[in-house]
Formats: sequence, C-alpha cells, structure tokens
Amino acid sequence: MRTDSEQIVSRPVVLVVGAGINGAAVARELTLNGVSAVVVDANDIAFGATSRSSRLIHGGLRYLERGDFALVRESLRERAILLKTAPQFVKPLRLRIPVRRRFGGLIWSVLTFLGWDRSCLGRFWLRCFPNARERGLWLIRLGLWMYDRLANSSPLPSGEGGRRPGEGQSTIDPRYPFSCEYFDAQILSPECFTVALLDDARQLARDQRLTFDVHTHTLVEFHDHEVRLIDRLNCNAPITLRPDVIINATGAWGDATLADWRVGSPKLFGGTKGSHFVTANHELRAALGDAGIYAEAGDGRMVFVLPLGEDQTLVGTTDEPFDARPETAVAEPREIDYLIDLVNEVVPSVTLTREEVVMSYSGVRPLPFGRADSPSSIPRGHWIEENTNGPNPILTLIGGKLTTCRALGEEVADRVLSRLRLPRIASSKERSIRDPRARRAGDVNPPSLLHSPNSSGGSHPPLAIDIIRHEWVRTLSDLVERRLLLIFDPRLDQPRLRELATLLADEGVFHPDQIDSEVATTTARLRQVYGIDVAGS
Ligand SMILES: Cc1cc2nc3c(=O)[nH]c(=O)nc-3n(C[C@H](O)[C@H](O)[C@H](O)COP(=O)(O)OP(=O)(O)OC[C@H]3O[C@@H](n4cnc5c(N)ncnc54)[C@H](O)[C@@H]3O)c2cc1C
Repeated sequence: MRTDSEQIVSRPVVLVVGAGINGAAVARELTLNGVSAVVVDANDIAFGATSRSSRLIHGGLRYLERGDFALVRESLRERAILLKTAPQFVKPLRLRIPVRRRFGGLIWSVLTFLGWDRSCLGRFWLRCFPNARERGLWLIRLGLWMYDRLANSSPLPSGEGGRRPGEGQSTIDPRYPFSCEYFDAQILSPECFTVALLDDARQLARDQRLTFDVHTHTLVEFHDHEVRLIDRLNCNAPITLRPDVIINATGAWGDATLADWRVGSPKLFGGTKGSHFVTANHELRAALGDAGIYAEAGDGRMVFVLPLGEDQTLVGTTDEPFDARPETAVAEPREIDYLIDLVNEVVPSVTLTREEVVMSYSGVRPLPFGRADSPSSIPRGHWIEENTNGPNPILTLIGGKLTTCRALGEEVADRVLSRLRLPRIASSKERSIRDPRARRAGDVNPPSLLHSPNSSGGSHPPLAIDIIRHEWVRTLSDLVERRLLLIFDPRLDQPRLRELATLLADEGVFHPDQIDSEVATTTARLRQVYGIDVAGS
C-alpha cells in the first residue's frame, strides 16, 4: 500500500546521493541514457570539495613525476572536451613556472617516479643535497614536452620553456632567471557548472518523460528495500523510493555515509585537506595579468597563484592528511602563512600580509585510503567500489577531479546500464553544457558573477529571483555562497544579506519569520568557514 508521502517514480530509478560535481555528472549521464534519477544532498549542491577546489581544469602536470601517465592523458582529453562543450564555464588559462636554475631535480624526479622519494635512499639524498627537489629548467621543459605529447590534438597552444626575464616576464623575480609557460584551463564557478549539469539532466528527463528530482538538505534512511528521504529543514514530507541502484557520491563523506547506512564496508577514503586564500592586493593582481603562476614552494610542493576575476587572486593549495568530518575543514593560519610566504618569494614586487587576505577556504579531497607515505603520493585517479551487502546495490565513487567528472559519470553510468541490462543510447562527449542562466535570459554570455557591479542582477527579471526559482535554492547560505558567489565580493554587507533573505521569503523559500535567523546563520558561517566578517555585523 502506498503512503501519502510516497511518490510514484518511473522505473528503473537510480538514487544518486551527493550533489557535488561527480553526483551531478552521473545523474546527467543516466538521464542522457534514458534512466530516471533522484539526486539527494544532505547539504546543498556543490557543498563539498567541488566548491573548495583550485578551480582548474587541468591535466595535472605534476602527476607526470609519479608516472601517472594514464591519469594525465585522461585529464587532458577531458580538458579538451570541456573546453569544447562548456566554453561558458571553462576558459583557457596561461600559466608561468618561475625557474631558478638551468639543471637540477632530475635525480629526485627519478626517485619520485620510482616511488623511492620517502625511502631511506630518498632521505639520504635529501640530507646530502638539500636542494635536490628543486626542479631545473631542463626537467620542466621535459615535463612540458611530455604534457604536450599526452595532450595529443589539444585545442590549447603548446607549452614553451626557458624564456629569460625581460622577454615579457618582468614581473618574475630576478632570482628566477627563467620562466616556462604552458596552458591549462580555469573554471571560475564549479558551483554553477554543477547546477548546469543538473539543469541539463532535468531537461533531458523532461524530454524523455523520465523522473528527475533534486532534493537538497535531505537525508537518506534505509528501510529494507525502501529508502526514505527526510527533509532536514522540515518543509517537505518524507518521500519513499525503491531505487534499483544507489550511487554513493558523497565524496570525502563516503565512509561516514556507508557507516550511516550500516552496509558494512572497509575504509575506502583517506582524504587530504587543501586550503586556499583570496587577496585583493592590486600589485599581485597586476603582476599576474591574464596568467597564473605555478610555483615550487620550499618543500618542493607546487602551488598555484591564479587570477580570480579582474581584481582578485586565488592562492592554493596545501595538502595534509585529514580525518575529521569534511565540513569542519578550515584554512589554518599556518597554512595561510605558508602560502603567503610562497607568493612573497616568487613575486618580488609584492609584500603580501595576513591583513590582505580577504577570505579563505578549505576542502577535503575524496582520495582512496592506502599506505601512501605522503599526501602527495596518494593516487589521484578515480575508482568505483561496489557494495552488495545491503538490500540495494551501492556504487561508491572514490577520487576524481573536477576535470574528469564527465569521464567518471560515463563509467558509473556504464556500470549501472549493464546492471539494469539497458543499452547505452547516447554519449556526452559532444553534448554542450550551456549556462542555464544565459539560456533562460536568452543570452549567449552568462552573467558574470565575480565582481560585476550587477552581481545580483539589476535587469528584469533580477538574476537572484531567476536563480531562486530555478536552481534549487533553499537557504540564504545556498544563495550567497554557491549561487551568487558573494563570498568573493568584498562589498557584501548586512543590508545585502537582509535584502536577499527578504527576497527568499518573498519567493516562498522560507517563512518571513526566518529572515533574522537566516541572516544570523549565514553571517556566522561566513566568519567560521571563510574568515569573512560581513560589514555591519
Ligand atoms: C583543495 C582542493 C583543490 C582541488 N583542486 C582541483 C582542481 O583545481 N581541479 C580539479 O579538477 N579538481 C580539483 N580538486 C578535486 C575536486 O574538487 C574533487 O575531486 C571533486 O570536487 C569531488 O567531487 P564530488 O562530487 O565527488 O564530492 P563533493 O564535491 O565533496 O560532493 C559530495 C557531496 O555529498 C554531500 N553529502 C555528504 N554526506 C552526505 C550524506 N550522508 N547524504 C547526502 N549527501 C551527502 C555533500 O554535502 C556534498 O555536496 C580539488 C580538491 C580539493 C579539496
């Protein structure tokens, strides 16, 4: 017998738990192939690592050193696909590598390639030659040459190595007499890209009369073969489903999710935490121009200094083991100092201070659990782990990058299709991912969110209302952090928060009585998670 809370769903149906970039890519791939999907997130779309990344679509130049050629090749192929199918989101980005010396780093690279960098031999080598890790010009040239070869017929220009300062590189420290250049790509808003994937899935489902739903701020409870979706905000009645397959796309929460579901699973994840900060320092932003810097820190780690919109710079990232709940990760002062030191080292015209950090954030990479000696040696590919201990088969996604979300979505869909004995009917390789905001506005160019004076939309209908109506917004934090990206807008103040909360109440997202508490909760979150003190608080 059906209860009032049950919804009729066309079968077969896949429950995708986790609305990060990977959950969204899986849902899109399934609807593309005629399978209904219900997406559930305990928080919001792109709440996890997806919104805490370096915002690059890249092959992973540094993975070459670990011999991970297959991952680099796949990432470069996916980079090319995204540049072609999602040009509103993914743009080419020139990157410079400042280099201090002509030779060096080769033996260390060989040790790293062989996985011996943390061995007795590696430690001995480092004691004898403290600069052994520092990569020289020839080694970087070799890396860029391989990167180009693996990219095959890339739409981006080839890398070039070895220009001296003065040949257009005046902003690089004279202590770095060489500079190499190459191209990758930047995705300024993986949050909006994730919404675009879900929006595409919704369109596909509509066209084929499939079921497609997204439930944010919702928990999943198991009752034998049935699954109950419980609204954490107590607005909607529980929904009961009988999914044919369940996808655990909860990223770094993956082990906790399986433990909550009591399906018995070994530890699958060994996440590492990475932190970033944003600064509006004008000299630094001017020094970057339209290019980013990919520079080696004193400990041999590579760090990005990236243009973020027209006025700001994004610096990251660190890489540390992290065992606590991912939502508790924040950028520690010592991580920020480490990144500031690197900026001051490689950009001599700038003396950046802690006071110039306007916001910071931290995320946890959903990496596989293993016996790696150091965070940087944990493999960065992706895997799908099947669990059939419970009443419904569960596929858990491990690893993955923004860059490879489509490929992972495709692999997961293939597994699901074969389980359901359904044929693949379409490929996402050529399918465009358009900005739904531009589509709804009938415009070719998406509205710019980073630092546009009209970031909340002055035109009719205002952008914020359009977003509230179509993009699964349920709280003020959803709107401020992951739809309008106001966390990157230094002009964000209390009146603006209140105005947006009132708009949400007017649109019926929550009761007008909740305006004060929504503003207070968002203000507290902005301080705690991003170190942002909203003016007027
Ligand atoms: C510091 C850092 C920098 C990075 N930089 C890059 C980069 O530049 N380029 C690149 O390609 N990749 C990068 N990555 C990797 C990339 O960001 C991640 O691999 C990717 O975002 C993972 O996406 P996901 O969907 O698997 O997980 P997430 O984005 O973490 O999504 C998981 C979702 O599951 C939800 N959830 C958790 N528990 C539950 C539950 N019990 N029930 C329902 N929902 C739940 C969460 O709310 C969250 O929304 C970076 C990662 C980090 C951390």
